[in-house]
Amino acid sequence: MASPFARRFTVEGGKSVSLAKIDPRDESAFESKEKAKAEIAKDAEAINQLQDCLYAEGRRSLLVVLQGMDCSGKDGTVRAVFNTCGPIGVEVTPFKVPSAEERAHDFLWRVHKAAPPKGIIGIFNRSHYEDVLVVKVKKLAKPEDIERRYEEINNFEKLLSDHGTRILKFMLHISKDEQAERLRERVTDPKKFWKFNPSDLEDRKLWPHFMDAYETALKRCSPAHAPWHVIPADRNWVRNAAIARIVRETLEDMAPKYPKPDGWDPKKVVIE
Ligand code: AMP
Ligand code: MG
Repeated sequence: MASPFARRFTVEGGKSVSLAKIDPRDESAFESKEKAKAEIAKDAEAINQLQDCLYAEGRRSLLVVLQGMDCSGKDGTVRAVFNTCGPIGVEVTPFKVPSAEERAHDFLWRVHKAAPPKGIIGIFNRSHYEDVLVVKVKKLAKPEDIERRYEEINNFEKLLSDHGTRILKFMLHISKDEQAERLRERVTDPKKFWKFNPSDLEDRKLWPHFMDAYETALKRCSPAHAPWHVIPADRNWVRNAAIARIVRETLEDMAPKYPKPDGWDPKKVVIE
């Protein structure tokens, strides 16, 4: 069950979402920036401990899907929320333009291979949703093929869920102005040049079409077992604090348990 905090951001499946009505600068979920920042650190540490237990238990997994326009802070979220976890037990998969091999398969082939195995937290930086977002906006597939994908995605996520994967999806909602600001940094700060891709400007021109495509995906693919959350992302601290808290609460709800000794009695073990 989603917590009252998570529900502030959750998209109810089947209901229309108007992204224009959600303020990317909204800070109202938090009392103050200082408090929220302190909470991020605490939540990240709690996530680390819960992740250790999830790994030890080895029966279930968590999949965190991060989607958003360029510069919305997908990498920054991974760094802030999962920083303390360390490399064991967390797998981050970025999804780029599909390779020739990937294109030779159905669109979920590469995604299913990257789904987190039992005990692991999997983080998708972009995801199968690109196939109903950029692919739709740039008309990279036939409309009837794209139309089928919403149901295919729902069936796929249900399959993962039925096999022990909790799914949390986050749309990092930034404003077009904030993106302009961040793109400008990428072309002025030599340490950020590598993040800039001239094709990002093409996507920027198609902003309203991307928002439409997001709204459709949010409406059609947000069942209770794999909910979308729209996270105001113009402020990094709001984005990080909201996501850290929802991930923590979800792991607490999963309540992983350290396994008991299997076929041996700790009191009887003698180590010489
Ligand atoms: P980035 O995440 O900024 O490194 O860029 C990855 C790029 O790959 C983005 O422009 C995505 O839109 C694009 N991309 C990811 N998945 C797909 C896909 N299935 N089809 C076409 N483009 C994709
Ligand atoms: Mg990019």
